Amino acid sequence: MQRKAHIDPEMPLIDLHRHLDGAIRLETVIELALRNGIALPAGDVEGLRPFVVIEGKGSGLMDFIGRFRYLTAILTDLDACRRVAYENVEDAAREGIDYVELRFSPWFMAEPNGLAPEGVVEAVADGIIAGERDFGVRAQIIGILSRTYDIETCHHELDALLAHRDHLVALDLAGDEEKFPARLFRDHFRRAREAGLEVTVHAGEVEGPRSVWEAIRELGARRIGHGIHSLQDPALVDYLVEHRIGLEVAITSNIHTGAVDDYAAHPIAEILGQGIVANLNTDDPAISGIDLRHEYEVVAPQAGLTQVQVRQAQANALEMAFLTDREKAVLLSNRKSTGTN
Ligand SMILES: [Zn+2]
Repeated sequence: MQRKAHIDPEMPLIDLHRHLDGAIRLETVIELALRNGIALPAGDVEGLRPFVVIEGKGSGLMDFIGRFRYLTAILTDLDACRRVAYENVEDAAREGIDYVELRFSPWFMAEPNGLAPEGVVEAVADGIIAGERDFGVRAQIIGILSRTYDIETCHHELDALLAHRDHLVALDLAGDEEKFPARLFRDHFRRAREAGLEVTVHAGEVEGPRSVWEAIRELGARRIGHGIHSLQDPALVDYLVEHRIGLEVAITSNIHTGAVDDYAAHPIAEILGQGIVANLNTDDPAISGIDLRHEYEVVAPQAGLTQVQVRQAQANALEMAFLTDREKAVLLSNRKSTGTN
């Protein structure tokens, strides 16, 4: 029988690494595609599912990213962007999530249908604010620069994000880590830090420790997206522990991108065992076909986490959240007074 872990109901349930455009409902994709005449490989949810959702082991990060095109194809206007952002918050509420940081690249969402990136940022912020109000989930937004675009385009993408700086909490860098190293984006992240944004960077997912070091030293990352290959460098492990730089781990996603072979081979237990601050996240629920509860309850024990480590991951998420101490205390006391999940 498969062992199941449980989520501590007295600790907030938190997702810090969830791509908003990787969490679009397939029902919404089909509905908007039919309404707006968007060509998809199937006309219903079940037919579309195998094109979007990965089963078993994936075939590399670029195949994984390629699946986004079916989700972003339906973003034909800003109302669609607003709607998917709003539904993201509703879905987080349904999962029992108390606090979520949703991230997106405005260029990546704008590009398929030629929308204005700045308008996309505003529409997403609108949708999330409305979702927070209607569903009682706390949500914040992380802007992403897609490193796969050129350096200049990323400056324009950053302009679009900074035009709505008050709606953002942090800046991230995502995309092809091998071909576009962090150092190319030093100026972008300096601008973001000067604007008061926090920094988290996708690194050490495909590439090794050097990529994580670059994210920290060149971009000022306070958290790392994935960072699972950090264990290869003991000096980096020491640095992460000492400076409490958190790793946003997404176990199923790592299997689906091919970064890790299977659940049993995932280094999350070792990461926590070394004292690194790390939590569990979904990354792209629509593409992985999972939610956060599944990652904690089903996937974590398969990856070798004990119940104590599962609770530690929950506690780490609260520590890692881009919130003030006071906001964290509110999340915690709300949970303790409710005590149910
Ligand atoms: Zn990610």
